Amino acid sequence: MALGERVYVALGSNVGDRAAHLAHARARLARLPATRLVRVSGVEETAPLGPVPQGPYLNQMVLLETTLEPGELLEHLHAIEAERGRVRKERWGPRTLDLDIVRYGDRAVRKPELTIPHPELPQRDFWLRELAELDTEPSPRG
Ligand code: ATP
Ligand code: CA
Ligand code: CA
Repeated sequence: MALGERVYVALGSNVGDRAAHLAHARARLARLPATRLVRVSGVEETAPLGPVPQGPYLNQMVLLETTLEPGELLEHLHAIEAERGRVRKERWGPRTLDLDIVRYGDRAVRKPELTIPHPELPQRDFWLRELAELDTEPSPRG
């Protein structure tokens, strides 16, 4: 496959079997058309953000290589969320699975339904840590 853009997708879950929701997302992302799952960060538990009382999250970042367009990838992400029973209610509310596009190569997108890079990236320490982890070359013996 021709090399595509390097895309960072953030996974989050705080309802139900959180680890299973993340595992489903990784497996589905690895099988998207025109897409390769390159690397995954460790899984980190974080306190919820925002005003809604809810349980802690499991978070993870993955690096994809894809020739999908950003809008196409977003549609796939919404479909994968729906497979885990995600119900879109309030923003920042509890959810089985949340998939956000954090960076898409060097592209900037500013549409009502899609902002890239994700505007909250500078505020989310765990995303910055996970990005740094993915950008660090693994040692030869892992
Ligand atoms: P946040 O984006 O601050 O983490 P959230 O993930 O809780 O909040 P959602 O309710 O999951 O927000 O998504 C609301 C809408 O955000 C989505 O329907 C999508 O169209 C839009 N959106 C804008 N930019 C992005 C992006 N970079 N990645 C994913 N969704 C995005
Ligand atoms: Ca989110
Ligand atoms: Ca989201």
